[in-house]
Amino acid sequence: MNVVRKILRSGLLRIILLSFAASLASGCSVIQGGKLLAPESFGLEQVTPNIYVESGADEAMRSQLREATNRAENAIRMAYGSVNSHPVVYACITEHCFESFGGRTAIAKVYGDSILLSPRGLNWHFIAHEWSHAELRSRLTFSAWLHLPQWFDEGLAVAISEAPEHSEAYYQSMITSNIPHPTTEELHSLKSLREWLAAIHKYGDDKDAERRAKGEQETHILYAMAGHAVRPWLAKAGKDGLLTVIARLNAGEDFNPAWIDNDVAGGTQ
Ligand SMILES: [Zn+2]
Repeated sequence: MNVVRKILRSGLLRIILLSFAASLASGCSVIQGGKLLAPESFGLEQVTPNIYVESGADEAMRSQLREATNRAENAIRMAYGSVNSHPVVYACITEHCFESFGGRTAIAKVYGDSILLSPRGLNWHFIAHEWSHAELRSRLTFSAWLHLPQWFDEGLAVAISEAPEHSEAYYQSMITSNIPHPTTEELHSLKSLREWLAAIHKYGDDKDAERRAKGEQETHILYAMAGHAVRPWLAKAGKDGLLTVIARLNAGEDFNPAWIDNDVAGGTQ
């Protein structure tokens, strides 16, 4: 009963609607996150009102999560000029915990205003990545959000979060290694979540869990490539360019003119 009351208090209908919306457009995949509405009933403990961690985490880990969340929030503020969204971070210190909340191959996931971290994503980079998805969604109308290209949402998250796993150096090393990857034109065609996930499968990014199990190097080339496409644009267009794109999308414009007009870095080439 306690769980039921908590779920009802937390606004179940809103969560379901957000979850449905998230399932339409979240490239980092959606978690089966209903259990996160009652985290303490499923093995998590509260660190701060916005951070939960798997039971058994020591004080060093709790401190690390507090610092990582603060740094991620600063990264969101730097990129967007302010912070609209206030997601809650749920940190798993074991893969079993991550899988129990619906995780598997990803490093981290976002579900509405909930960020779920795997043991491989317990740092500011992956909190900021998922936070960027939540922040961008919070600033767009529902219609604009549905028309936001998946590759840009992911590339922006990669650029803001600066994860070494998706860095420019990593991207260049993958290209030098002749890892199969889409052309820039194909990347820009990945607008819907379905198209993004199809490309993830086509280029083998969904095999990273198997590679990890065998001790082989993971690829996540799609994320690295999306970051490569957006990073120079964000560096030059900055917060003002990003906010302009958001405003034009909210005004009902298509993405391409809004992006290309602000493409001071030539990132669409
Ligand atoms: Zn993402």
